[in-house]
Amino acid sequence: MLKLSIMSTTKAKKILISGGGIGGLALAYWLKKYGFTPVVVESAPEFKRIGYLLALNLQIGQVVAEKMGILEKLKTFEVHLTNNIMYDMNERLIMNVNATPKQHAENTGLMLNRADLHNTLYDLVKGDVEIRMGQEVTSIVQDENGAQVTFTNNKTEIFDLVISADGVHSKTRELVFGKGFEKNIGTAYFAFIIPNRTGAPVAGKNDLVMIRGKDFILAYHAISDKEIGGYIFHKAEPFVALDPKDRRAYMIEQYGKYNKKFLSILESMTDSDHVFHDAFTQVLMPTWHKDRVCFIGDAAYCPTPASSMGASMAMASGYILAKYLSEADDYKKAFRDHEAYVRPYVLKTQKSAITASRVVAGKTIIPYGVVNMLLKIFPIALITKVHTHKFEMPLP
Ligand SMILES: Cc1cc2nc3c(=O)[nH]c(=O)nc-3n(C[C@H](O)[C@H](O)[C@H](O)COP(=O)(O)OP(=O)(O)OC[C@H]3O[C@@H](n4cnc5c(N)ncnc54)[C@H](O)[C@@H]3O)c2cc1C
Repeated sequence: MLKLSIMSTTKAKKILISGGGIGGLALAYWLKKYGFTPVVVESAPEFKRIGYLLALNLQIGQVVAEKMGILEKLKTFEVHLTNNIMYDMNERLIMNVNATPKQHAENTGLMLNRADLHNTLYDLVKGDVEIRMGQEVTSIVQDENGAQVTFTNNKTEIFDLVISADGVHSKTRELVFGKGFEKNIGTAYFAFIIPNRTGAPVAGKNDLVMIRGKDFILAYHAISDKEIGGYIFHKAEPFVALDPKDRRAYMIEQYGKYNKKFLSILESMTDSDHVFHDAFTQVLMPTWHKDRVCFIGDAAYCPTPASSMGASMAMASGYILAKYLSEADDYKKAFRDHEAYVRPYVLKTQKSAITASRVVAGKTIIPYGVVNMLLKIFPIALITKVHTHKFEMPLP
């Protein structure tokens, strides 16, 4: 029988983080800062520069980034999309409005290629934290002395705690709690950032060009002179997962007809371009911890991209959980306190995602044309009502 390490107090020292994404790396930074020994296991064999557009909101994500000393660096990567241009599905203009700096800062926040956020976090921790690439947890056996973890390479190791930050489809969650916590809220997405091979700028520097259909919204924009981004949020009942090699053709067939520029972007894609594609899946768990294992970020409470809050909340959880672990003698108290603090805000972000998702999917009582007319009359007010990043969560 394997001998477990005996800890004299209940305070944890060696902490395994499953998942080296946004929340996992933020947590690793804070744990290291508080004197713990975090070890990250990441299933990807290497971190590739693949991304999509996301925003760190002013009230939460940027506050954590500032505490980590990376906010100024992140600002150098900002994709400043203040100009909202929206067409209907017959290419008639609905709006062409600039958000004021205040509206943009408060309701949207710092827009970034996820790859730039992730690289910045990785650069911050890689010299100080052990990161094991291409490994996953395959089993966790817990007792009063530790968590005995086995990995895909069949090696076994004892940790004081395991924190799962391995994303919306978390395998650790399945190992510990089983299946059944993922709920598709009726929409899905395609998202990508790719080199600009179209031979010309696809949009003005600050333009976010959107096409609003009856049950979808698609958008494209420049990231820099060299990169362009795009996404499609669409109704998906049921969600049909597409093989990566079929995604480009599907997007061209279903959505290319609505905008020539968007079609040219899709046609310029090559097999090396990564297109993210998934259902808008919320993770709804009655509790985020069990014995020595705790869940943060999308693995615990994915709000979906429709909330625009997942990265901000995952980073905040990393900060809050590490702080509580550093303050409490008992890790169980830290797990409970983290959950008690974060859950009410998570519920708000999940609720707002459902509202936004219903509007995208055309599931409102107001008909398509009337919504477009209202958007024409009250553009910014309506956009920010349906889809705002303006969530407050004062950090402890
Ligand atoms: C199109 C789109 C737009 C978005 N827009 C926004 C936005 O505007 N604002 C915002 O705040 N958020 C946004 N998000 C959400 C945000 O990206 C996520 O909520 C956030 O990345 C969650 O962080 P995480 O650390 O929990 O998970 P992730 O960042 O997904 O990281 C999970 C990590 O775990 C790894 N992993 C997976 N399985 C295993 C395993 N078994 N073992 C080990 N490692 C594993 C993965 O490779 C990955 O590195 C958006 C998401 C999408 C897709």
